[in-house]
Amino acid sequence: MTVHPLPNAADADDDHDDLDTVTELTVGDARGLDAVAAARRVQHVTGVEPSRSFDHDKIERAVRMLLEAIGEDPDRPGIADTPARVAREYDEIFAGLLIDPAEVLSVSFEEAYDEIVMMRDIEFHSMCEHHLVPFTGRAHVAYLPGEDGRVTGLSKLARLVDVCAKRPGLQERMTAMIADSMERALQPRGVMVVVEARHFCMEMRGIRKPGAETVTSTVRGKFRDDPKTRTEALTLLRG
Ligand SMILES: [Zn+2]
Repeated sequence: MTVHPLPNAADADDDHDDLDTVTELTVGDARGLDAVAAARRVQHVTGVEPSRSFDHDKIERAVRMLLEAIGEDPDRPGIADTPARVAREYDEIFAGLLIDPAEVLSVSFEEAYDEIVMMRDIEFHSMCEHHLVPFTGRAHVAYLPGEDGRVTGLSKLARLVDVCAKRPGLQERMTAMIADSMERALQPRGVMVVVEARHFCMEMRGIRKPGAETVTSTVRGKFRDDPKTRTEALTLLRG
């Protein structure tokens, strides 16, 4: 079967202006649909509507060049679609770059709750910004609600961790970002975030230490200043 790029426009007449117009429209629509699909993917994984999108064309060109640079044939059937696949995949694994993490917690409710709220063992997958290979682990997140007793849903805390992980980053910065976002959205009296992770840049290469875990923590407000509250949080955290 022969596929003509624009059979209708070509059949209608030989007017090149018409043909150009139709070509432009077709390209514009294709990009528009791609952008809509990209925004949907981001919203699906973050729960927040993104304000911008990644440059898919540039990602595709870069991945193709990368494959060429290591001596692969980018047109080989097995990997011919890899550049486009990676571009779509980045909408998901780097989705956190496209939204404000505090917005994940924006829906909160007044419960007049005065005790520690803690969620343990929130699994996450992130990407080390030094090597662009994954680091993966669990986060434990606790806060002491502010004077207004404002709290957020537990699923929102899990999503916050996920969104802070979905970017090229460092474990230390991710830990602080989770705490910052909670402080901005909830104005709590205290925040504690502990992150335990395995880094594939240490397991696949370099010092090759399989199974070693890196632990980072951020402790703020009453959890830092009040020894009793701090001990209570640490006890809860250890389960
Ligand atoms: Zn690394």
